[in-house]
Amino acid sequence: MRTTVERRAVGPRDVLIEIRYAGICHSDIHTVRGDWGKVPYPLTVGHEIVGQVTEVGAEVTRHSIGDRVGVGCMVNSCRECDNCKAGEEQYCLKGMVGTYAGTDRDGSVTQGGYSTHIVVDEDFVLRVPEAIAYETAAPLLCAGITTYSPLAHWKAGPGRNVAVVGMGGLGHMAVKIAAAMGAEVTVLSQTLGKKDDGLAFGAAHYYATSDPATFEKLANTFDLIINTVSAPIDMGAYLRLLRLDGTLVAVGAPPEPLPVQVFALFGARRSFAGSSIGGIAETQEMLDFCAEHGISAQVEVISADEVNEAYERVLKSDVRYRFVIDIDTLR
Ligand SMILES: [Zn+2]
Ligand SMILES: [Zn+2]
Repeated sequence: MRTTVERRAVGPRDVLIEIRYAGICHSDIHTVRGDWGKVPYPLTVGHEIVGQVTEVGAEVTRHSIGDRVGVGCMVNSCRECDNCKAGEEQYCLKGMVGTYAGTDRDGSVTQGGYSTHIVVDEDFVLRVPEAIAYETAAPLLCAGITTYSPLAHWKAGPGRNVAVVGMGGLGHMAVKIAAAMGAEVTVLSQTLGKKDDGLAFGAAHYYATSDPATFEKLANTFDLIINTVSAPIDMGAYLRLLRLDGTLVAVGAPPEPLPVQVFALFGARRSFAGSSIGGIAETQEMLDFCAEHGISAQVEVISADEVNEAYERVLKSDVRYRFVIDIDTLR
């Protein structure tokens, strides 16, 4: 449904962005369907936003009119707590302000990127390098940073064995980024249906998790496993794929608590961790890294009228690998 949302007036430190593309993230679907709690309707979702700066406030120093920019999952934070000061605004102790369904500084509900324009504080606006096309850059703002941050934190790189569980929007970015970092990448997917793509994205190995032999063969193999799947998994089975001191990081969130087999952790001093997006400086680092390594998201561009249909296809994992809305079709 199309409607009109009001944006706040451009303040002294704000930039006005004319949005060109917005990615469709699974979180958008969970949010609008009320899976994660009450929805402050009317709500516009979308937190993979790219476009052009068309107006800047008087005190803005980081961006100029005409710049190619992006906005991800957050548009503000307290900036004073220990985590904000450490550049980890996504873990703001007072709660970061989400790009949609958050509480804006004027008390209104924040509205996301499935819209023609957005007004954002300059500190939460990223530079999109020229080397990355707008439409393939959009998913980097959520799927890209969500996978880059744990890969960087747990040191994916040469000599490290990294497994990516799931080959969807997050998974395909994890494969590309981990391979670009120099790690040896293995995809663990339900079937071998996307094997050719996985290998083309940089994976060295690709296994079906529907085959129990996979878990025997790969026991004690990985330094790092990035789990992008939000469906519940058999934690013990996956933890046993970690070698000594390995870490399994959850970036997809199942709605229910997961039982963790502590004996599987004991078995090789393994860790189970979680990670959520990344800080603003790290998000910029990720965009620059992707430009330098010639990687970006693989997308299917759709018009604004096709969003509902796209949601159904995302829920069936029938997208390669991210839908991106051409916002010009909204104008
Ligand atoms: Zn997202
Ligand atoms: Zn804070």
